[in-house]
Amino acid sequence: MKNLVILGSTGSIGRNALDIIDRNPGRFRIIGLTANRNAELLAAQARKYNPSYVALCDRTGLSILAESINPAKTKLIDAEDVSKLCSDSSVDIVLNAVVGFAGLKATAAALIAGKKVALANKESMVAAGPLLNRMAATHGGEIIPIDSEHSAIFQCLASGKRTEVARLILTSSGGPFFRRENFDGITPEEALKHPTWNMGPKITIDSATLMNKGLEIIEAAYLFDIPADRIEVVIHPQSVVHSMVEFIDGSTIAQLSKPDMRLPIQYALFYPERIKQDLVQFDFSKELRLDFYPPPKDKFRSLELAYRAVREAGISPAVFNAANEQAVKAFLDHKIQFKRIFDIVEETMNRCGLGDADTLEQIFTANSKASHIAGNIAAEFENTDKF
Ligand code: MG
Repeated sequence: MKNLVILGSTGSIGRNALDIIDRNPGRFRIIGLTANRNAELLAAQARKYNPSYVALCDRTGLSILAESINPAKTKLIDAEDVSKLCSDSSVDIVLNAVVGFAGLKATAAALIAGKKVALANKESMVAAGPLLNRMAATHGGEIIPIDSEHSAIFQCLASGKRTEVARLILTSSGGPFFRRENFDGITPEEALKHPTWNMGPKITIDSATLMNKGLEIIEAAYLFDIPADRIEVVIHPQSVVHSMVEFIDGSTIAQLSKPDMRLPIQYALFYPERIKQDLVQFDFSKELRLDFYPPPKDKFRSLELAYRAVREAGISPAVFNAANEQAVKAFLDHKIQFKRIFDIVEETMNRCGLGDADTLEQIFTANSKASHIAGNIAAEFENTDKF
């Protein structure tokens, strides 16, 4: 029985993780559940799983939560104390499914406490990858990726030695606009319709801009300690091949499954064990098409900007991430056009400059500065663009 904390339990990853836990009774004890703002669902989860602790970031839902939990079994803690919860001696695994930079503190706290982190919060790794790797190495923590591409690479890497790896090939569905001529007139409602994956709004917009793939290039560079020029992106609309590793002898190992996030979540929770599942299976008696296309890099500047961020290193990946978070927010609020997301990220990187990212403090400062600059640039576009 492993003791588990789920950060972001009411989101898409959190709900899928609880489904995996339901399907494997007796394997996990839920120590803590946290959510951003869905108080009703968090309360329902607390009544079902009786975690020792719950926390809610958005204070407006606190009274709903406080009234509906069982105080004899579950204690309501402050959102500021979530890092303490992650490092509690009773906890074995922290599943971090927080959206955005907000997840970094908890990832760091868990790794410093030597925990296994099942990481869906890719922004932690993007903003602070080298630092988190050092924390894990120093304190015996471990990062197991939940991101489907990185889970795939993690599994493919078992086929050879690290010194035998030639390239990592990240697959991308291409999102809803891969074949679109230009990005004029795209509404948030259109961009929120993803062709193959059903996910939260931030990552769905990131998938439409391929900023998600940019974040994943950086995430892969840090998770697997490989130079970004040996990480490639290929468009694969069926989302069946989740990523590939090419070895120096010319063999390419791929990981395939139907697109269902419960599979990489299950893999991370049970790693190094593989568990029998009855969720999804291929039927090879029917035609199965797997298509691959080169990414249209000129249209999706997100990829080049991500390579630039890894090349510049230091705070640049954190700046890239912060600018994107602000740009996505402005787009979802109908303040800027879709195509401005690329401009905001690029211009923020230009204006922010370079710097070291050796401490959490430096990374938090870079995040604040870049968010501020990106917010200003978004406001400039809001004023000049009429749409
Ligand atoms: Mg992914």
